[in-house]
Amino acid sequence: MFCPYCAAPMVPAPHGELRCSATGALFSRHLQGRFANLASEAGLSESANEILSARLHCPQCGTEMDKMRCVDCGARLTKNLVREIIELNPHVG
Ligand SMILES: [Zn+2]
Ligand SMILES: [Zn+2]
Repeated sequence: MFCPYCAAPMVPAPHGELRCSATGALFSRHLQGRFANLASEAGLSESANEILSARLHCPQCGTEMDKMRCVDCGARLTKNLVREIIELNPHVG
């Protein structure tokens, strides 16, 4: 998987989190599960206008997302998931 902030490959951290290999930012096991199931969340996707200012990369392939949708693999980030990424797993550095 790839860091949603900078698209660097994510590597396993000691306690089961994923770590951004570029900055060391940690992503919880919970978020990993969400990242792995983006396809199943697609149906729940709401209009995400409020969070479109966030520039994120697809966790599944690293492509920069357009309006929270990956133009490459079609994965979608829901508003809730984007909020979790930004508020609970801030990117350091
Ligand atoms: Zn990163
Ligand atoms: Zn993708």
